[in-house]
Amino acid sequence: MADTLFKNARMADGRAIDLLVAGGRITAIEPVGRLPVLEGTSVVELAGALLVPPFVEGHIHLDTSFIGDSWRPHKPCTDGFDVRERVAFQEENLATAAPMDYRAARQVDLCLAAGTLRMRSHVHVDAGPGLSHLEKILPVRETYRDLIDIQLVAFPQNGILSSPGSVEILDEAIAMGCDVIGGLDPATLDRDIEGQLDVVFDIAERRGVGVDIHLHDPHMLGVFQIEQICDRTRALGMQGRVAVSHAYGLGEVSEAAAKKAADLIAASGVAIMTNAPGNHPFPPVALLRAAGVTVFSGSDNIRDSWWPYGDGDMLNRANMIGYRSGFYTDPDLEAAFDVVTAAGAAALGISGDYGIAIGKPADFVCLAAEHVPEAVVGVPRQRTVYRRGRTIAENFVLASPANRG
Ligand SMILES: [Zn+2]
Repeated sequence: MADTLFKNARMADGRAIDLLVAGGRITAIEPVGRLPVLEGTSVVELAGALLVPPFVEGHIHLDTSFIGDSWRPHKPCTDGFDVRERVAFQEENLATAAPMDYRAARQVDLCLAAGTLRMRSHVHVDAGPGLSHLEKILPVRETYRDLIDIQLVAFPQNGILSSPGSVEILDEAIAMGCDVIGGLDPATLDRDIEGQLDVVFDIAERRGVGVDIHLHDPHMLGVFQIEQICDRTRALGMQGRVAVSHAYGLGEVSEAAAKKAADLIAASGVAIMTNAPGNHPFPPVALLRAAGVTVFSGSDNIRDSWWPYGDGDMLNRANMIGYRSGFYTDPDLEAAFDVVTAAGAAALGISGDYGIAIGKPADFVCLAAEHVPEAVVGVPRQRTVYRRGRTIAENFVLASPANRG
């Protein structure tokens, strides 16, 4: 692959730079005009575009979206939100859906086109579907390996103890290639906090994988379980490898209780994922970050049986997080951006190969924005996505394989 010199980019810190890519990695970053154009080097003029690392989609469900399929009108629960009823609606919808690998691929395309090159997807694995979803999603990950790095979470949507036979299936899912073991509402779904966490952390310890638990359980019931997760994380030395997704309880308790929990979460190296959901209380992002907690984000459900929203654009997600968090100052807007970029990489444990620096993979997004705060507020449509120094999408349109240059 020929070297490529990207000229006249603006970094997030305001520097005007040229950037050299060789062998798919960043080999030099210098003030504009300092790098010589050697023979055989192709030149890309960026005309002052803002150059940022690719977005990190930290929580998505590739197996259940209807992107690429027909529209499925949302069906409300009959008597308030009920996980089991929603799962039943999902089963109904999936029974008549387009093939899972096709739908998953369309969802990956959607995310790629917006600038996401790192992703963590939960995949429904338990005694319900068994390993059938995973068997469809693993080849999709393989197909897209050159374009996007995807982690898969073995996600027990039906619970673990309340779905007999799931323990062995979850264990097998890790053996098949899942990177992370999931969990879901140990208290309200399994009605056995210790029991579910025993299974999850036992698999994590034996298989050497991370943990990412969906936790919608409310108020202090949620916070209590976060404390249990923190204690187990520290006891097993798993700091930096455990995440709690949603953690709604943190947004429902008093500020003093949230602050106390935040200090424990930070000290335990547990990350918190929020997608700033609709009208639901969600974790206090600024309070958590001030305590040193890694807060990351994801689209979660996109056009599936849970809700119809989501466009796969993590910059738009940063906008939602900022909007719902009351972020107005430039540092606040930069924090919202960090949640969908560097903090996401930290939560996924992939910071080593992430960022705009010499030696890193040449994965980046160029945005029509003056700086990060403007990008978060304006969510520019005008953007170009580069993977290993090659253009893979422009203005939300994916380049065909022949045109990736
Ligand atoms: Zn989810």
